[in-house]
Amino acid sequence: MIETTSRIPIGYKVRRRFPSEIEEIVSNVRQIFGISNGYFPIIKVFEILQDLGKIDLRILPDSSLSSLGETTLAKHGQLYIACIKLKNSVYEGACEGNGFHRFTCCHELGHAIMHLSEMKLERSTSHRENRNWLVDSEWQANQFASKLLMPKSMIFEDHSAKDIVNMFGVSYKAANIRIKDITKHGGLKKRQNPHGGFDVF
Ligand SMILES: [Zn+2]
Repeated sequence: MIETTSRIPIGYKVRRRFPSEIEEIVSNVRQIFGISNGYFPIIKVFEILQDLGKIDLRILPDSSLSSLGETTLAKHGQLYIACIKLKNSVYEGACEGNGFHRFTCCHELGHAIMHLSEMKLERSTSHRENRNWLVDSEWQANQFASKLLMPKSMIFEDHSAKDIVNMFGVSYKAANIRIKDITKHGGLKKRQNPHGGFDVF
C-alpha cells in the first residue's frame, strides 16, 4: 500500500534498488509502450499487458480487499505471472483519470515489474527497524509510480504543482512530493531559452 510519509518502512525486504535504477526501469517502461508525451495511460497499459498474458488483472468489490490494491503471484500454466488485484473504486477512479487512483495502479505495476521474482522468497521485515528504505518493497513501488507518472526530464523549474497535476494526471500530494524529491536530488531543470539567445546573468 501507499504511504510515502511513513517514518518506518512498511513493506517487505527486497533487493536494494537506488532511485537512479528505478528511474531507468520506468524510462524503459515508457519506451516499451511508446509513451513519449507526459500522461502515462496506466489503464491502457494494464489492458495491453492483460491481453498479452503478462499480468492477471482482477477488479474486485471494494469489500473484498483490505487494501486499495495488492500484487501477488499467479500460476498460469507453467509460468508465474503477477496477479494485480484492485478495488473496483480504484479501477473506476483511475479510468476516470483520478490522480490518487492512477498512482495506486502504477504502484501495483511497480510491484509486478520489480518484485515478481522475489515474491516466492520468504518475506522478511528485518529492514524496518533500521529504516533501510532502499530495500523496502513499498518505498520502491512508490518511487516507481512517482517516477513513471512524472518523468524528471519533463519537469522544469517554472512548473508549479498545478502544472504537474494537469500535465501528468496526478494528485497535488504526489506532485508536491515529486517536486521536493527532484529539488533534493540535483534540482529542477532550467528551461532552454526558447529564442536561442544567451541567458541573462
Ligand atoms: Zn504496495
